[in-house]
Amino acid sequence: METAARTAPATVIVAIDGPAGTGKSSTSKAVAAKLGFGYLDTGAQYRAITWWMLANGIDVNDPAAVATAAAKPAIVSGTDPAAPTITVDGTDVSGPIRTKDVTAAVSAVSAVPEVRARITDLQRSIAATAEPGIVVEGRDIGSTVLPDADVKVFLTASPEARAARRSGELKGKEAADLAATQAALAKRDHADSNRKTSPLTKAEDAVEVDTTELTLDQVIECVVTLIEEKRSA
Ligand code: C5P
Repeated sequence: METAARTAPATVIVAIDGPAGTGKSSTSKAVAAKLGFGYLDTGAQYRAITWWMLANGIDVNDPAAVATAAAKPAIVSGTDPAAPTITVDGTDVSGPIRTKDVTAAVSAVSAVPEVRARITDLQRSIAATAEPGIVVEGRDIGSTVLPDADVKVFLTASPEARAARRSGELKGKEAADLAATQAALAKRDHADSNRKTSPLTKAEDAVEVDTTELTLDQVIECVVTLIEEKRSA
């Protein structure tokens, strides 16, 4: 008796890009959890390599020094959306990568082509082994890292909404200074959007979702619908 050839179900790759404060992380984690997919925070990887540079006394404003050191740290990302992890040389750095110092240095480090090549390779190998799917959030996922992603979303929001959201995530004195938060976000966006290698950009075939007037649940629903439409097509 003949049996039909079985093919493994194709991995579903979802790319979610956009600037800081647009709800990328909350949306990506929730969508991944809802669909039983993995979740990869690529910003955390750039923050981790930046943390390592600072911890090892590398001048982050010296691209040649950063390039020379780029291959040294071992960065490992855990992709469970309920408890994503990030380690550098075996040390949990999920707390230290969110400090002001790392946030201020990350755009300079992530602009160095050797850093991008290293982290992009890591991202592609994680996506290649994900099952049954993975939500990858970042700045250049749909445009450069995974241009064949099944669903591409580009999240935006007004500068005021983004600063207010980011401020809500910070604590104490930092949270109180909304104007400073907005200025820091604008500076980081400018650097991320204007670097030569793989800048923050909307892929031509990405669906743009302006989240300014939407609740988190509405954004999640919108992205889940896009994925389900694609899967049933
Ligand atoms: O997403 P998050 O704000 O944590 O990202 C931190 C930084 O990492 C960004 O400001 C950007 O410089 C860099 N990044 C990047 N490409 C990505 C994700 C993040 O250059 N795909």
